[in-house]
Amino acid sequence: MHQGCVDLDLNETQLLVQKTAREYATRVVAPRAAAIDETEQFPREVLKGLADIGLMAINVPEELGGAGAGVIAYALAMQEIARACASTAVMMSVTNMVGEAVARFGTDAQKEHYCPRIASGECLLGSFALSEPDAGSDPGGMRTTARRDGDEWVLDGAKQWITGGGYAGLFIVWARTAPPETSAKGISCFLVEGGAKGLKIGRPEDKMGIRGSNTVPLEFDGLRVPASALLGQENGGFKIAMMALDGGRIGISSQALGIARAALVESITYAKQRTTFGVPIASHQAIQWKLADMQTGIDAAHLLSMRAAWMKEQGKPFSKEAAMAKVFASEMAVRVCNEAVQIHGGYGYIRDFAAERHLRDARVTMIYEGTSEIQRVVIGRTVLA
Ligand SMILES: Cc1cc2nc3c(=O)[nH]c(=O)nc-3n(C[C@H](O)[C@H](O)[C@H](O)COP(=O)(O)OP(=O)(O)OC[C@H]3O[C@@H](n4cnc5c(N)ncnc54)[C@H](O)[C@@H]3O)c2cc1C
Repeated sequence: MHQGCVDLDLNETQLLVQKTAREYATRVVAPRAAAIDETEQFPREVLKGLADIGLMAINVPEELGGAGAGVIAYALAMQEIARACASTAVMMSVTNMVGEAVARFGTDAQKEHYCPRIASGECLLGSFALSEPDAGSDPGGMRTTARRDGDEWVLDGAKQWITGGGYAGLFIVWARTAPPETSAKGISCFLVEGGAKGLKIGRPEDKMGIRGSNTVPLEFDGLRVPASALLGQENGGFKIAMMALDGGRIGISSQALGIARAALVESITYAKQRTTFGVPIASHQAIQWKLADMQTGIDAAHLLSMRAAWMKEQGKPFSKEAAMAKVFASEMAVRVCNEAVQIHGGYGYIRDFAAERHLRDARVTMIYEGTSEIQRVVIGRTVLA
């Protein structure tokens, strides 16, 4: 089976993207991360810088303005940025996902219009508007509608939890275009520009973690888009959402990995410096075992994540592998960050150290782009097939 043939050697492009992301993360993102969290300030300049170095459309073809560097390169870059700042990383992840969906499912006109703008940062963020107040795990139950009126579609309804929505230049919006009983088979997908008339952006959510990332509810009140704004086939939107989320899960597993790596590195440094009973706490076997388990979990998640990225890059089915990477990496990250707080003792519980931020940031990776329970539903189905 091809899974045994995963190529773990990075090629020149992948190494270059990783190095570029690492350098930018260390020099620009990491020094600002604590303040981004503390002030909940939208990191506009940091995100624009990501576009300038080609990290907002990593897996979008070069002829559309993207880096054309592939899925593995994207996963590696996400790990690096998340290591510095998980808030920045999630907005980078969604923007990459939106650019990739347009490149993959768009008409020539849609691709040529939007992809270069996303890649360059002219359209600073892309947003993915699927979830609703009453439909998260079960988007087939969505209530937002799109009704055809001549050469236009008219959207009415509400979305919830939309990452980057307050600043997005482009939204991919899912809406019901057939009666509710058609469930997932009656949903279509639309490209909506930021600032569109009839688009109301709600108050940003006051979150536990990734506090510098903007998360807003949206309302559509008779929002009109031209017929040409339909992405993919009429009533074929659900498939686009599921395919985009499969890829997105590689992004979230990478985000979780980045956060966990940061927590481990800080724990190692702290364990070597802090002394109790006359020796560094790193000398206590209890601490060594924690560090050993943290490193083992990170390596296992990395391998699962790379396998999913590699399979996607090879054009093989990868839904199960992406779900496995996401559920394992996110739960691993929460465990690792929790241990990081423990290793830091009382200092782990205060904001002077980053450990508590990592734990708060890691927690959401078990929820968005499909909860842990939903990943297990996806994996369980294939195990039983
Ligand atoms: C910070 C943040 C950012 C987000 N960004 C975006 C975004 O950009 N775009 C977007 O569209 N959405 C976004 N989301 C939404 C996110 O994807 C949903 O919150 C998530 O899918 C869960 O949906 P829900 O909140 O409605 O929970 P529910 O679906 O109501 O689930 C509640 C609980 O029931 C469990 N459950 C549900 N169904 C099953 C089942 N069949 N079997 C077992 N357990 C089940 C769930 O796992 C969960 O534990 C974001 C969420 C957050 C918190």
